[in-house]
Order: sequence, then C-alpha cells, then structure tokens
Amino acid sequence: SIPLGYFGGIGAASQNGILFKGSNYLDLITKVDTVVMDKTGTLTKGVFEVQEIVTSNIDKNLLLELVAVLESNSTHPIAQAIVNYVKIDNSKLKATAIEEISGYGMKGQIGEYEVLAGNSKLLQKFKIPFDETINSNDKTIVVVAINQQYAGYITISDTLKEDAQKAITNLHKIPKIIEVVMLSGDKQAVVDTIANKLGIDKAIGDLLPEDKISEVEKLKAMGRTIAFIGDGINDAPVITIADVGMAMGGLGSDAAIETADVVIQTDQPSKIVTAIQIGNATNKIIW
Ligand code: ADP
Ligand code: MG
Repeated sequence: SIPLGYFGGIGAASQNGILFKGSNYLDLITKVDTVVMDKTGTLTKGVFEVQEIVTSNIDKNLLLELVAVLESNSTHPIAQAIVNYVKIDNSKLKATAIEEISGYGMKGQIGEYEVLAGNSKLLQKFKIPFDETINSNDKTIVVVAINQQYAGYITISDTLKEDAQKAITNLHKIPKIIEVVMLSGDKQAVVDTIANKLGIDKAIGDLLPEDKISEVEKLKAMGRTIAFIGDGINDAPVITIADVGMAMGGLGSDAAIETADVVIQTDQPSKIVTAIQIGNATNKIIW
C-alpha cells in the first residue's frame, strides 16, 4: 500500500497547480541534481512579435505576404507572430507543396515562387548562401529564401516570463542541484543573452529536436539524475527520457502533457522549485 505521506504530497502539489502522475515521482524528484529546461514557452512566454524586416532585392510587402501565406500553414508560435502581423485575409496567393521541417521552418510553392522561411540552418540545408553576420546579434530571426536565393529576414522578439528569474535563482538555492541547463532550437546568441541574464549555468542553442535528446543522454551517461521541463511537441521525446519529465500544462502541447511525469498547470517555471520542495517534505513525513 502507498504510504500516507504520498497522498499528502500529491494533494499539496495539486493545490499548487502541480500534477504528479505517480507517487514514485515525489521520491525521484528529490534526487534530481540537474535541471534541464527548454527556452521558448518554458522560460519565455512563447508569444513572439514582429520587430523589423530586412530585405535584399525584393519588395518588402511581397516578402511579408509570401512568408505569411506560407506560415499560415504552421502552428509554431513564430508562425503565429508573422500571421498576426501581416494581414493576409485578402491575399490571392496560395501555398502548395507545403512542408513543415521540424527544427528548421517551412517550405512551400506560392505561384512562381519557391519560398523557404525558418532559421539559418534551413538555408544551409538547402545550400543557399547568405551573409552569416545576420546571426551575430541576439535577436530571433526568420530567414527567407525565394527561388533558392537569400531574400532577407524578419526579426521577432519574445519576452521572459515574470517568474523566470525566481525559478533559476531558487533552483540554485537547492543544495542537491549542481547544474541548470537550457536547451534551445534558437540562435546561440539569443540563448547566451538569456542565460547570462538569468544565471543559467550552461545554455546550448541551434539544437534540432534530436540534438536535445543527445544532450540529455550525455548528462545521463555522466550519472546525473535529470528533470527536463518543456512545452512543445518537439519536447515530448526529451520529456520521456528524463528521469523526471515535466511539461507546462496550460499552453503546452498535448504530446508534452501526455508523456510528462509531472505537469505544471500554471505554466510558471518557478513551480519546478515548489515541486522539489513538496517532494522533500513528503519524504520527511515518510521516513
Ligand atoms: P524551440 O522551442 O527550442 O525554439 P523548435 O524545434 O520549435 O524549438 O524550433 C527550433 C527553431 O526552428 C526555431 O527557433 C525557429 O528558428 C525554427 N522554426 C521552427 N518552426 C518554424 C516556423 N514555422 N517558422 C519559422 N521558423 C521555424
Ligand atoms: Mg518550446
């Protein structure tokens, strides 16, 4: 039978908006020494806004219309930002041969134009040359290629969640935690700026979904006990392999929530700390 302490722990967690899917995780979470986090939608709000449009040899409005028509076929938060910014309700353009390339971006045919919109890795994948200096600043960008030629980029910005700083600061106060890591598909310069600001120990950007898995595997091979927290469809495999897989339950994708051991229903990253504290308190009652 389950010790009474576990019922108390699960109840206390639930009152704090934290769903433990099994009492064993109340125990396992107290052994976590490495917390690995996704950036977009976990530490940041995941709500992007268009800031700036930079074009090369193409009309700015045409570039925007082409990209928005293509992105209207994606549910990625970056795509939503572009579709919200560019009014395409009256657009006569239609995309065909649409491909969503996970971790890279979108590809499609719009009339006479073959359009690519995504990160710079997408252009590299299609062997399209571009000026590498567009990656030097700490702004998230959507790079565009039209008919296999670099055509410009759109700068977008996201904002940190209100409690992101509290989450990292308080994780560092837990004696058992030796490292807080951030893994992201975004540019390294963006990731570095956020990591420095929040005091994250290690931050790796430019990662494909499968790269996030191998980073967690590497930490596991070092003997670490890992909690991973993410929100996206892409995060589900990483949530599965972590010792304690955690998902953001409010805005998080169904796949992430289903595979998670622990769901943070309030979307606040600081609840990771609360979950560990409840685990510690529960175990004190039992032993
Ligand atoms: P993350 O949540 O770490 O950003 P994703 O795998 O969702 O991870 O995305 C990785 C990167 O791929 C994004 O930062 C973006 O550069 C690019 N990307 C993915 N989907 C799109 C899209 N629909 N439009 C533009 N860029 C995209
Ligand atoms: Mg994400």
